[in-house]
Amino acid sequence: MFNSKETDRIKNLVESYLEKNNNIDQWDKSLRDQYHLDAINLILDLAKDNEHYKGKMHKLDSTKINNLDEFKKIEFTTKDELRGKPYKTVCVDKSKLAQLNISTGTTGGDNIFCFYTMNDLYCSEIQTKYPELIPLKETDIVVNALPYEMSSAGISLQRVFQVGERAIVLPAGKGGVYSTPKKTVELMHKLQAEVLMTSPSYAATLYEYALESHLDPIKDFNLNRIWLTGEGCSDTYRKRIEKIWGAPAYFYYGSLECGSLGMECRYRNGYHIPEAHVYMEIINPETGETCDEGEIGEIVTTTLVREGQPFIRYRTGDLGIIKTVECECGIKERKLALRGRVCDQLKLDGRIFSPFYYEDYLMKVEEVGLWYHFIVKSDGLTIRVEKNYGTDISDDELKEKVVKVIKEGTGTIPMVEVVDKIPRVFTKAVRVIQEG
Ligand SMILES: [Zn+2]
Repeated sequence: MFNSKETDRIKNLVESYLEKNNNIDQWDKSLRDQYHLDAINLILDLAKDNEHYKGKMHKLDSTKINNLDEFKKIEFTTKDELRGKPYKTVCVDKSKLAQLNISTGTTGGDNIFCFYTMNDLYCSEIQTKYPELIPLKETDIVVNALPYEMSSAGISLQRVFQVGERAIVLPAGKGGVYSTPKKTVELMHKLQAEVLMTSPSYAATLYEYALESHLDPIKDFNLNRIWLTGEGCSDTYRKRIEKIWGAPAYFYYGSLECGSLGMECRYRNGYHIPEAHVYMEIINPETGETCDEGEIGEIVTTTLVREGQPFIRYRTGDLGIIKTVECECGIKERKLALRGRVCDQLKLDGRIFSPFYYEDYLMKVEEVGLWYHFIVKSDGLTIRVEKNYGTDISDDELKEKVVKVIKEGTGTIPMVEVVDKIPRVFTKAVRVIQEG
């Protein structure tokens, strides 16, 4: 079923490279560059008759590029160009499409539609493996607490774990009608599940439900790995999640549109880019110019193993830095550091900061709970917090402590509000509120 003849070109290309070196994460730069060139040319050929992409390629002499520099002549595609337009970048006959997901719509505006062929599902989720980055055992139970409704997150990672890695997956979902956090926690406990895949804020939510069910999140559970995805968070927030669950937490970066974009190895100091899946660039969001390596900018992605609806030079709205580093794990893929979303940056005193930079300090105050808001007003930053479980600190003492830590860490003197409870959400947590 996966191998319809006319759509085998991507699969054949990946397999021809796997014959050269079966471990994608060990490909050296020259092999990777050659693969990227061949894979991009294949995608451009598949997309050449699509009206949208034809327009984007008008500066190219042909639909073939001779080197990766020439690829920069293709104009970017933005989210706004695709919102509410289901078939705009579909590049195959409708009869070949097999699955449709839509964006979860947290950043406003109409939905973005993503179609896949059966070959897309095979190539992007099953065929290409990264055993160092996804080291699951066949007996591991993975509680996949990511959204399944409409979104690609739950279903695509289910296939990666289940078909690609042969683990056992509980499709728990994330706060749906049948997948309440209470039920998810009870099943994690009953099954003694080894792995939890969820967002940072939902890991905090599940912890609260474990406490409510009178379960000890460390002693009564058997987690040995947590993957956090769907929202960024700081390293200190991650450490708090690890502390409450008693298990190491790894970051996984992906997007609805482009799938997996980065995975942490056991050294957990940046994301390895799955380079067989995606060609990643960093650009200056103002000028569109390509950034130098190591320079912060907007992440632009091109999907390399998708024929149904490829994304070509697609602006993600996320900020990051790419570096070529020799990682201790031995993986040769380039590494990405994330810096949050372009629209969520904190603009303070005319300067721009990542919310994770401030969160990293805020979460060092152990009396602060895992839910908070950064409210940016014209007169500065207000941090709204609630108290952590088990603390008897007074409101004034907590305010003083937060001001001190934020001031020492960042130089900013914030206003601090202590509230009883920050409203919980099961969708992506909103941490930054712009009020002027
Ligand atoms: Zn590594």
